[in-house]
Amino acid sequence: MRCVLVGPPGCGKGTLSGSLIEKLQITHISTGDIFREHRATKSEFGQKIASYIDKGELVPDELVLDIVFDRLEKPDCAKGFIFDGFPRTVAQAEALQARLAKAGKPLDVVIAFSVPDEVLIQRLITRRVCPNCNAVYNIVNKPPKVENICDNCQHELVHRSDDHEEVIQNRLDSYRKSTAPLLDYYEKQNLLFNVDGSRGSMAVEKDVLDYIAKNGF
Ligand code: AMP
Repeated sequence: MRCVLVGPPGCGKGTLSGSLIEKLQITHISTGDIFREHRATKSEFGQKIASYIDKGELVPDELVLDIVFDRLEKPDCAKGFIFDGFPRTVAQAEALQARLAKAGKPLDVVIAFSVPDEVLIQRLITRRVCPNCNAVYNIVNKPPKVENICDNCQHELVHRSDDHEEVIQNRLDSYRKSTAPLLDYYEKQNLLFNVDGSRGSMAVEKDVLDYIAKNGF
């Protein structure tokens, strides 16, 4: 299955990705995770993108596309993939579409999450992530077994620097301005499956798995 997740920060894209890759044996590609890994190495590229991430702004398309298309060349993408946080602009979506069309492997589905802003803000403020294996927790709804320690790899969890209220507002603005137009773009191609992401992760996962089974992706 070739799938894109579209939704505002904190809507549950990362959590759904975690369960889908396990159940469907497909590859997870999160541009946010890739960027944070580059940033942590303090590479030239990492330094270039850091200021955008810190401010909650989108990294320019030309810096995003090369990284994504290199990742798509890796053999583990042949069995199918789930894009989490990409595309985030119509230009990125058009570039992805052209690339996949050239390979004769178009997208099967775009899963679109809707969640009210107040729920998103609360979730992001209480979200904790593992910088080692990228597992996602929430100190209220989904705490780790040992406080602030990842259940999977025992690494210390972090509160992402962009998961603080001042930056969250910018991220929500970027989503509305640059990413939300994707919904229309994919609706016109009949690829959209809408989910109410304000519910618990199990209910969201069930809706998505039922839809995938029904359509035979
Ligand atoms: P995320 O982990 O998906 O919330 O992404 C964290 C940050 O990385 C975003 O706020 C952007 O600054 C940047 N980013 C991630 N994916 C993209 C993308 N596809 N296009 C532009 N910027 C991105």
